[in-house]
Amino acid sequence: MARAVFAFSRDLRLSDHAGLAAAARHGDVVAVHVVDPVSATRLRRSPRRAAYYCAAVASLDAALRERGSRLIVRRGNPGPVLRALARAVGAGVIGWSCGYDAKSLRRDRDLQSALEEAGLRALPVHDAPAVPPEDSAAGHRGGDGYRAFVPYHALWRTLLPPGDAGSATFAPVEIASEPLPIPEEFGSQLAPDEPVGETAARAKLTAFLAGPALQYGVARNVPAAGETSRLAAALSFGTIAAREVVRATCYRNTDPFLLVEERTSLKLYLRSLAQRDFFLQLAWYNESLAEEPLQSKMRGFGFARTHQHLDAWRSGRTGYPLIDAGIRELRATGWMHPRVRAIAASFLCFDLGIDWRVGRDEWDHYLTEDEPALAAGNWQWVAGVGADLAAYPRIYNPLKQARRFDPAAAYVRRWLPELAALPDAAILDPVLGRRQRQMQLPLFGGLSYPEPVVDHETVARAFLERYAREVRAAAPS
Ligand SMILES: Cc1cc2nc3c(=O)[nH]c(=O)nc-3n(C[C@H](O)[C@H](O)[C@H](O)COP(=O)(O)OP(=O)(O)OC[C@H]3O[C@@H](n4cnc5c(N)ncnc54)[C@H](O)[C@@H]3O)c2cc1C
Repeated sequence: MARAVFAFSRDLRLSDHAGLAAAARHGDVVAVHVVDPVSATRLRRSPRRAAYYCAAVASLDAALRERGSRLIVRRGNPGPVLRALARAVGAGVIGWSCGYDAKSLRRDRDLQSALEEAGLRALPVHDAPAVPPEDSAAGHRGGDGYRAFVPYHALWRTLLPPGDAGSATFAPVEIASEPLPIPEEFGSQLAPDEPVGETAARAKLTAFLAGPALQYGVARNVPAAGETSRLAAALSFGTIAAREVVRATCYRNTDPFLLVEERTSLKLYLRSLAQRDFFLQLAWYNESLAEEPLQSKMRGFGFARTHQHLDAWRSGRTGYPLIDAGIRELRATGWMHPRVRAIAASFLCFDLGIDWRVGRDEWDHYLTEDEPALAAGNWQWVAGVGADLAAYPRIYNPLKQARRFDPAAAYVRRWLPELAALPDAAILDPVLGRRQRQMQLPLFGGLSYPEPVVDHETVARAFLERYAREVRAAAPS
């Protein structure tokens, strides 16, 4: 019987798996996972990420064992490792799922050359996005992808993903495997804080669609109200297919008893999934996205690499409660609410004038999800150097945002216990807050919440003036 090797990477599941299904068309599948230097570096960066990943690999191995097979683990450069393995098991085809960030793209190219030079058939397949980049790019701008989300989204809605990609038969495995990865290998002492793997991810999606998804329109903006899906880590390690999430959401929307607002919420959730595909295709067609602004006019813009208050931002001590709550949520849980991410990132880029790459790299040490392409795309977007083509950057006012999206200060109280006893108004207004804290000092001893490190109105105006000057100077005359 013919055999094909399939090398799992950030696609750690068996069902609805485009790459696995493609490999299975060439024979019984030998399931392999290579812990390569690119992924090992990213896992070493975030202990929560390492814990989540190891649990996802273990869950995949268990699922394979239920099917009479198991995962063969190797460590090293994928090219030589997979070449040797294909020879050992008698396979002529090696499949894997494409990566989208620059380092993964380079690794995949090297792998393809190494395999083809050895006379093996390389089979890279798009699995992570619900709609593969080439499907959306066909016929657009010479086939090199979208740079603006609005037209992309209009097209995406017409390209909803096909049904389940199909199943695979696995070969019995007679060769030895290296040990499964464990968190300690990446310097992590943590265990995941939630069940991990395909079954757990599907259960999370089902629970989300049964209730919280119907209020997603509010939950994605109001951090203390409802729940977003929290599927970022599962999607990034591929324990669930984006195709499945999209299909299940569309199916949910066929319920005739839904209210108009509930349907709107489901559409907004689909829009978020489209955003994911948008940034994946953006990275696919713009390999320098990780390091270079997409907008050429912004490539020489003078963002700073440091600032006297950078450490205050890093540690959640800027004196702006909503921002500090977000950073502390991230550090405590490996996740930050999406709207707060945008506000905290805007503060770094515009109030402190710091380069978006500094913020992206800082958060990378804490995030559980492993999506460098989405991190770069979103940070560039917020910093006004990427796919958002507005003439001026959108600078969020952290106090107005707090009044609008956390009016009862419930989110701030959850993450800043030192402010929990203050009245809402004192949390939302730093001047009043300062007075209240001074009055409470005798009661609570050294209340340590800081003053705002900068005056938002002043620094935001100064940034905009500089932005206008530099962009005018860079424009062709
Ligand atoms: C400055 C900044 C940095 C970000 N960095 C990352 C990152 O490193 N990794 C990451 O996965 N997301 C990132 N995002 C996007 C978004 O905030 C997270 O995907 C979302 O908060 C994850 O929570 P959730 O799973 O509950 O999302 P939900 O709101 O439930 O959305 C469902 C899924 O849709 C996708 N999605 C949602 N919003 C976006 C978006 N704006 N762009 C792309 N995909 C989206 C994600 O895969 C998400 O899991 C960033 C956003 C900002 C503003």
